[in-house]
Amino acid sequence: MFTDVLSRLGLSEINPGAFARDWLKCHGPELVSLNPATGQPLGKVVTATHDEYETVIRTASESFLKWRLLPPPQRGEIIRQIGMSLRQHKADLGLLVTLETGKILTEGQGEVQEMIDMCDYAVGLSRQLFGLTMASERPSHRMFEQWHPLGPVGIITAFNFPVAVWAWNAAVAGVCGDSCVWKPSSNTPLTAIAVQQITNQVLKQHDLNGCFTLCIGSGSTIGQWLAEDRRLPLISATGSCHMGRRLAQTVAGRLGRSLLELGGNNGIIVTETANLELALRAVTFAAVGTAGQRCTSLRRLFLQQSIADEFLERLVAIYGQIRIGNPWDANVLLGPLISEQAVADMLHAMATAEGQGGKVLTGGHRLNRPGNFVEPTIIRATSGMSIVREETFAPILYVMTYEDLDQVIQIHNSVDQGLSSAIFTDRLMDAEKFLSPAGSDCGIANVNIGTSGAEIGGAFGGEKETGGGREAGSDSWKAYMRRQTCTINYGSDLPLAQGVTFDVN
Ligand code: NAD
Repeated sequence: MFTDVLSRLGLSEINPGAFARDWLKCHGPELVSLNPATGQPLGKVVTATHDEYETVIRTASESFLKWRLLPPPQRGEIIRQIGMSLRQHKADLGLLVTLETGKILTEGQGEVQEMIDMCDYAVGLSRQLFGLTMASERPSHRMFEQWHPLGPVGIITAFNFPVAVWAWNAAVAGVCGDSCVWKPSSNTPLTAIAVQQITNQVLKQHDLNGCFTLCIGSGSTIGQWLAEDRRLPLISATGSCHMGRRLAQTVAGRLGRSLLELGGNNGIIVTETANLELALRAVTFAAVGTAGQRCTSLRRLFLQQSIADEFLERLVAIYGQIRIGNPWDANVLLGPLISEQAVADMLHAMATAEGQGGKVLTGGHRLNRPGNFVEPTIIRATSGMSIVREETFAPILYVMTYEDLDQVIQIHNSVDQGLSSAIFTDRLMDAEKFLSPAGSDCGIANVNIGTSGAEIGGAFGGEKETGGGREAGSDSWKAYMRRQTCTINYGSDLPLAQGVTFDVN
C-alpha cells in the first residue's frame, strides 16, 4: 500500500543496517519494522555485527580528522544543503515517520520540519561558536578560550522522535566539527535509513561520506558497545530513565561524557483565574497528542478545587470527540501506540491505578481492531498513588485537585523526573511564583502553554532523572566541543600568577 513512498526514499524489502563510507553488507539478526496501525511489516533490516560496528567506528574516526579541519562555516554549508535535501523529501519522510511510529500525519511532517529548522539553526551557529577573552593579571599577557571539535560522537535515539532527535544532535555536532555515529531505536530503523540516504546524497557530492554514519542493532549490543567505546568522547542518548541510568554508569566508568535526554512526568497546574478555554485545548494536545508518547506529554493535571468539576466535565466531553484511527488519515487525532508491549504497559498501569484507588473517568480500553489502538484515558487520582510517580508512555492523564499554590508546586516537584511543566493562570503573581527559584524544578517551565511542543532555539532538556542534558538551542553546542584556555605572553618577562616568585638566581 505504501511501497511507492518506501522506494522513493531508497528503501527495499530487506535493508542493510550499517553505513560507514558506503552501505555495509550486514550479518546480524534481522529486524522487522512493523506498522503499529496494522501490525503488518513495512520492511526488514539486517542489523550490524561487532565487525560491522568496528568498520563504522573506524570510518567515523578517520572522517573526523578531515571534517574537523573544515572551517565551521563550510561545515555549516554542508548542513544547509542537507536541510535543502530534507525539504525536498519532507512529504515522503514525514509519511514514513507516520507509518513507522504511528504518529499522525501532521506530526510526522512536523518532525521533518523540526529537522529542517535544526539545519537552519546550525547554519547560523556555524558562524557563532564563540569563545571569551579574559583579563589576564599578568602584564603583556593575553588569555582567551577557544572551542575545538570533540571527536566522533555516538547518538542513540528513542522511537518517538525517530528523526528530529538525530537532527538535534547531528546538525549541531556537525557544525561543531564532530563526526557522528547514529544508533536509532529498533522500532524505527527505516526512518533512520531514509535519513541516511538523504544525507548521503549531499555528502557524496563533497566526498564527505563517513562523516555521518549509521549502525542499527539492539541497545544491548550496539548501544552498549557505543557506551563502552573510548574512541567516542561523547555519547548523546535519548530514551527511558532506565536506559540512561545504565548507560551513564558505563560511560562514566571510562570517564567519557554523556548527554542525557530521558523520561519525563510532566505536570500542568490550572488555577482558578486561568483562561479555561486555552487550558482545555493545551491539556488535550499535551495529553492526547502523539498518543501520550512524547517525553513532554502531560501526565499529571492539578486543578484548583473551585474550577475542577467544570474543567473535568468539559475535558471528558472533549475526549469523547477525539477521532482515533489510521494515523495517515487526515482527520485522525489519535493513532496507535508503538507496540503490543506499550498497550500491555498501559493496561497494566491503569489496573495498578485502579488498585490504588484511582477512578477511570473516560477511556481505559483497547480498541477491537488490528494495530495497537487504545482510548485516551483520564483517571481521577491522588498524589499519594505510587503509579502517578511513574512515566507510562501512553495517553493516561492523572487528575488531582488542590487548594494552595505553594503546596501544589511542592507536590508537582516531588516526582523523580524533571522535564516539562506549565501553569495556566491570568494572575501575574502565580505565574511568577511558578517560574521563581521556589517554583517548578523542571528544565522547561511554561505559562499558558502546554508541556509539549517545544521549538528549537531554546535549550531542551530536564533535571533530576531526566538526565540534565540540554540540546537543540541556546549554548547546548558546547557539549559537542572541547574548550581550550590559551594564554599568550607577548612580553620578555615571565611573571607568575598570584604573585608567586621562582627566581633561580
Ligand atoms: P528506550 O530507553 O527503550 O530506548 C531508547 C534508545 O536506547 C534505543 O535506541 C535503545 O535501543 C537504546 N538502548 C536501550 N538500552 C540500551 C543500553 N543498555 N545501552 C545503550 N542504549 C540502549 O526508550 P524508547 O522506548 O525508545 O523511548 C521512550 C523513552 O524515551 C521515554 O522514556 C521518553 O520520555 C524518552 N524520551 C526522552 C526525550 C527527551 O528529550 N528527554 C525525548 C524522546 C524520548
